[in-house]
Amino acid sequence: MIKRIGVIGAGTMGNGIAQVFAQSGFEVKLHDAAAPAIERALKTIDKSLAKFVEKGKVSTEDRDAALARLSAAPSLDSFGDVDYVVEAVVESLDVKRTIFGALDKITRPDVILTSNTSSISITTIGAATTRPGSVLGMHFMNPVPLMTLVELIRGQATSDEAMNTASDLCRTLGKTPVEAADYPGFIANRILMPMINEAIFAVMEGVGTPEAIDSVMKLGMNHPMGPLTLADFIGLDVCLAIMEVLHSGLGDPKYRPCPLLRRMVAAGHLGRKSGQGFYKY
Ligand code: NAD
Repeated sequence: MIKRIGVIGAGTMGNGIAQVFAQSGFEVKLHDAAAPAIERALKTIDKSLAKFVEKGKVSTEDRDAALARLSAAPSLDSFGDVDYVVEAVVESLDVKRTIFGALDKITRPDVILTSNTSSISITTIGAATTRPGSVLGMHFMNPVPLMTLVELIRGQATSDEAMNTASDLCRTLGKTPVEAADYPGFIANRILMPMINEAIFAVMEGVGTPEAIDSVMKLGMNHPMGPLTLADFIGLDVCLAIMEVLHSGLGDPKYRPCPLLRRMVAAGHLGRKSGQGFYKY
């Protein structure tokens, strides 16, 4: 029976993940290497729940109960009593492998260990543990409290039992799980990032202005947001890193990152977070 969830990484994704588990009745321990990140995350969750209350989607009692189920875990050592883990730290294979190695020693052997990675091989992360059958990808979308998809990534050794448990858990959270195999980019980024990259090629080649390209995709394809607006939202450095993973992992030149994308990242024009990307903020 899964009751207590350990979430590692209290950044953009980790705080949303902690929130949705707490709202669904699970006790959540939230750990981050940087103590201020946990404090910030708890404030962000508080604000997010306040918005749900304002809109009448969550009662004040349910909000208070969700907040009471959340606790800060200053050290990973306190994960000895968790029943399930979601890791959402920085997108670095070395950091994730170290964390999974540590989790393998700290948590009970029956505990499923999952990663929210956007692009790192689940099979490689699983190989850092003695339980690769219980390691899988649980790829939430940003913003987690609002987006219903969770991509579940099956590594080479992931067991059916672990996949089924993760699927059931997603449904308990009110999310829809979709299974993807462990190939670079899984499903979401395998399709989304080449589209964004192609939109950037179109800017570079003067096919259209960013406004024109975004308008075509919004009005003509019914996308809620144009690809360049979306790239600015995700962060151009993140887009470049994922294109590099697709390019090196699949070895096909069709995934080469657009030179304009490289140039913008080199200039520090990273999108919303730097105040300048395809648009100014
Ligand atoms: P973020 O930078 O907002 O947060 C990462 C957090 O990890 C930081 O608070 C940092 O202090 C912490 N951290 C770093 N090293 C650590 C360690 N050794 N132990 C504990 N904590 C550590 O990053 P994010 O955007 O939340 O992304 C987290 C993961 O989610 C990444 O794997 C990313 O690829 C994936 N992801 C991100 C998005 C997105 O839109 N941001 C979407 C889907 C998946």
